[in-house]
Amino acid sequence: MVGSEAELVTVEARFDRRDREKTEVVVTGLPDAVIRESRGRLVCALEANGMHLPCGRLFLNLVPAARPKSGGGLDLALVLGAAVAAGHVEATGLERTIFLGEVGIDGALHAVPGGLAAALAAKKQGVDCFVAPRETSAEAAWIPGVRALAAGRLEEVVAHVAGVEGALSAAARPDESADQPPDPSVLDEVRGQALGKLALAAAAAGGHGLLFVGPPGAGKSMLARRLGALCPRLSIDEQLEITRVLSAAGRWPGGLARARPFRAPHHTVSYAGLVGGGAPPSPGEITLAHCGVLFLDELPEFRREVLEALRQPIETGAILLSRAGRQLELPARFQLVAAMNPCPCGYQGHPKIPCRCPPSQVQRYRSRISGPLLDRIDLRVELAAPALDELAPREARPTSLEPRGAELAERVVRARARMHERQGGVRNADLLADALDELAPLDAESRRLFARATGTRVLTARGTQAVRRVARTLADLADDERVDSRHIARALALRSPLV
Ligand SMILES: [Zn+2]
Repeated sequence: MVGSEAELVTVEARFDRRDREKTEVVVTGLPDAVIRESRGRLVCALEANGMHLPCGRLFLNLVPAARPKSGGGLDLALVLGAAVAAGHVEATGLERTIFLGEVGIDGALHAVPGGLAAALAAKKQGVDCFVAPRETSAEAAWIPGVRALAAGRLEEVVAHVAGVEGALSAAARPDESADQPPDPSVLDEVRGQALGKLALAAAAAGGHGLLFVGPPGAGKSMLARRLGALCPRLSIDEQLEITRVLSAAGRWPGGLARARPFRAPHHTVSYAGLVGGGAPPSPGEITLAHCGVLFLDELPEFRREVLEALRQPIETGAILLSRAGRQLELPARFQLVAAMNPCPCGYQGHPKIPCRCPPSQVQRYRSRISGPLLDRIDLRVELAAPALDELAPREARPTSLEPRGAELAERVVRARARMHERQGGVRNADLLADALDELAPLDAESRRLFARATGTRVLTARGTQAVRRVARTLADLADDERVDSRHIARALALRSPLV
């Protein structure tokens, strides 16, 4: 495995019987400790299955030799290579087949991570048969055109290689009818917070970064957790990508990934934990959030260099890791949602509870967020603690203006279709200044609104653009062709002057 992708390794085997009094096994081609130890497992597993290794020297070489290799996944190929070299198995039976899996000393096969990635790599190289332990092979079964066979024990694989019909069974293809579309009604579990729900819909439709600012108990994380419910059903490509990432991280979901990922790392997360890294490199939270939501609660508490590391993936949808002179790219296209208190104690602006923070401390708290990261967050929404009447059941509230989850989800689908038709793969969140002049031109009333807004608060050029991008999305959500002052006014309401 290299990140979330697999590379195929060929095992070369040769047995030299000359002038030897014992059996020696040599593995070359940059094996790690686990693979070097496989020599013992290999001899035992062969013996246990009646394949004796005579005296001599067994050479096993891993190609390409210059790439480091790790883990127990190569066991099965090594054992079969040894069996061929020692004359127990015909080499022709191994052709055009990927063998993946760990082999126990009794010949039992054990699952390894990366089955889906390995099957994708196999297909790319025109290899169409895939033999692996049951759980690993179940992943490969998802790739069309790959014949995934499941094995429980080494002797079954040996019988299959010898041409015994039915020695291995086809891996079970999980039931696709179990697919569960996102359920937007979970949004209705959150009482009130109409502005917050509109912000979620805008984020889901236009791909905008979103920051909730509000006191404890305002429902910031409750709302954030429901963003995925407003996003469209996962496409098959997205499902495969998510599954490949999870499988490579040893988190195979037991089928094709059904739900958009939601990752909420704690603010003490390390740099490597967030963006990925280590040796061998493993995916970080941003990659585990691929095609889903990355939620950063208590945003000012995250370490600055950790947040700065998010800039590149937010721009490119991928993260480049350098490890041992190699560049490794991992997918990391996620929707960013963050939350913070308005001040260190959390209660500034609260109607009942007084804030006890000195102004200088509030200033320092807010300025802790990295500027460049904040630039990518178009939506900055203030959430108040819910008023008492909002907590009453919906039926008991006389005239509720709250949008229903199902209705918002429909609007998101239509807005995305509109956006796609107008500007192809470019999301509203990625519109540049020139495009905004064309797609979100300002009329006289909108200009007046901006002038009034900048009279009461600082709105930078970047801030103005962010408001126009959001206004474009709000117009799309409302099925309006043109952006007008109503959309600008609402977009300004979705941009808190607090941060
Ligand atoms: Zn305070």
